[in-house]
Amino acid sequence: MEGNRGSLERIEVMRKITELTRSMIVELSNGSSRMIAIDRFKSYCSNSLENCCCRFNLSEGKDVLTLQRESHVRRLDVLLRVLLIIQQLLGENRHSSKRDIYYMHPSIFTDQSVVDRAINDICILLQCSRHNLNVVSVGNGLVMGWLRFSEAGRRFDCLKKPNSAHFIPVQVEEVIDITSAADYILVVEKESVFQRLANDRFCSRNRCIVITGRGYPDVPSRRFLRLLVDVLALPAFCLVDCDPYGFDILTTYRFGSMQMAYDAKYLKIPQLRWLGAFASDFEKYNLPEQCLIPLTFKDKSRTEALLQRCYLRREVQHWRLELESMLERGVKFEIEALSVHNISFLSDEYLPSKIESELTLLNS
Ligand SMILES: [Zn+2]
Repeated sequence: MEGNRGSLERIEVMRKITELTRSMIVELSNGSSRMIAIDRFKSYCSNSLENCCCRFNLSEGKDVLTLQRESHVRRLDVLLRVLLIIQQLLGENRHSSKRDIYYMHPSIFTDQSVVDRAINDICILLQCSRHNLNVVSVGNGLVMGWLRFSEAGRRFDCLKKPNSAHFIPVQVEEVIDITSAADYILVVEKESVFQRLANDRFCSRNRCIVITGRGYPDVPSRRFLRLLVDVLALPAFCLVDCDPYGFDILTTYRFGSMQMAYDAKYLKIPQLRWLGAFASDFEKYNLPEQCLIPLTFKDKSRTEALLQRCYLRREVQHWRLELESMLERGVKFEIEALSVHNISFLSDEYLPSKIESELTLLNS
């Protein structure tokens, strides 16, 4: 099903594709080897705040692709092939995954990342989001709790069984009729933690919506979360492992990823609050020593790099303090370690106490 707006957007993107190919043909016929210029975007930098321009969503320069360089010719070849596939998808109003596109010319594309970059390049050139190209992800995220919605004519009634997982819909733009009686949204990094909460019937005992992107979240999971936060205006909390990977996932939800920096304004969730796990939870919740794992050399350098990101200095100084404290202690731990006292400690004590103090803070 496609609304009027969707169909207008589709026609507009097809018009831009024609315009882009026409301008390349003009360059060629004028004897120019300079084919296109693709803006570069960054979601963060490590510059001092005075020298940072990430906050303005401005491009950080351009990649000018010419026919004089072998690597550029290859990138143009891939770009044009992907563009042709997208034009066909839009023309027939069909959808396809990035993986399907890769398998149309695997020997030419050689790797999925090559296709992914071409899709990002096309979004930047056409100034649109990935879903406007009818390119969808194979949905990875899960949701449960106090929520009802429809997607493309299908009704999702999570409320009937609030502790059962539903796949997050792939076509988030088609999600309508969202209703909820939840008090907050809880985002958890891992599926194992989501399952723990499902087994503990967390959503029967707490009025909430729980979401996981199962590791680094894909675009539908992030767009869906953003949609819920916008429509329902609920506080959203995020629970990740106390290690640099968990922290990086947290920043992907809140600030967007580097690869899709051009689209960050539609993907980031500035309201997202970090619930834990913090290095200080170790003493607070009396975790035994054996739950702690020493930070490796790689963990330490990763953490030091994270600390340099401009958005942390600008927007969440207190997150930096927690990260510095982890680095000073030189240890990390997984959320699962909280089960050491008792298997339901996470859902019976840890989460309710954390959420209560966050909600008190928000309402004060
Ligand atoms: Zn910056």
